[in-house]
Amino acid sequence: MTDNYTNNEADRPEEYWAMMHALQWYIDNGVDEALLDEPIDRTAVPTLADAMNVVPKRPMPIAPTATGGDEGAMAPIGSAEAIVEARKLAAGCNSLDELKAAIQGFDGLSVKKTATNLVFSDGDPQSHVMLIGEAPDAEDDVAGKPFAGASGQLLDKIMASIGLSRNSETPEHGVYLTNMLNWRPPGNRTPTQSEMSISLAFIERHIALVQPKYIILCGGVAAKTLLGSSETISKLRGKFHDYDVSKDGAVKIPALTTYHPAYLLKTPAQKKAVWADMLLFKSKLAN
Ligand code: URA
Repeated sequence: MTDNYTNNEADRPEEYWAMMHALQWYIDNGVDEALLDEPIDRTAVPTLADAMNVVPKRPMPIAPTATGGDEGAMAPIGSAEAIVEARKLAAGCNSLDELKAAIQGFDGLSVKKTATNLVFSDGDPQSHVMLIGEAPDAEDDVAGKPFAGASGQLLDKIMASIGLSRNSETPEHGVYLTNMLNWRPPGNRTPTQSEMSISLAFIERHIALVQPKYIILCGGVAAKTLLGSSETISKLRGKFHDYDVSKDGAVKIPALTTYHPAYLLKTPAQKKAVWADMLLFKSKLAN
């Protein structure tokens, strides 16, 4: 771009500054990678016939704007074909290795193209507690492990405060970590509603294969999507919900919802609330 403009910034035309502002706006909103030569209309809604086949039975909340996000609303479904394909693949997985391979081979999520590594899980899957976050960040993407960065360090401290660790050798004190989305969204943006609709099949299968005794849902995206709720995270947190793992009410897992550690890094005043949530969780474990 600079080739066409004078070296003296003061002499550049308004058109130049308009383009620079537009580019900055994209970067600020997490659009920091160009994938294809042609634009794709991501707002295009699938046909009614597609939607009738694949729309989840539960109301799907729209992804919140911040990790601890509070805005809830109904949203259109994502790519209908990708949802169908993800469901088919997930249903055919009978082990965590198969599920990991299926996610690795699945091309229905464009975030796969910009990510460095698949971020599947960390910790012992035999752990009594399974903790589900939102999506990998830049450090997790490089490490290939969830919660490898700053929010992970805070999470480890929070878990340690109630005697849990991802490195524990005993399932009673272990915590198995994963995310709603297994690929890092560019610019660490919040996963889109479409990405959540597609990934739901994989995370539901993940939970069904691990069969933890307890679940911790960290942040609004995990809580709202897995509980099928449009309530705010501040309303959902601080209590146990029944996560219906069998989808027919026959097998339910107690799931505590709490704020996300990344939200706590930005809003330390909420640490008190998370401490209260952890005490509640600890007393449930003791029982
Ligand atoms: N890292 C993760 O693995 N998950 C999150 O939700 C945030 C950071």
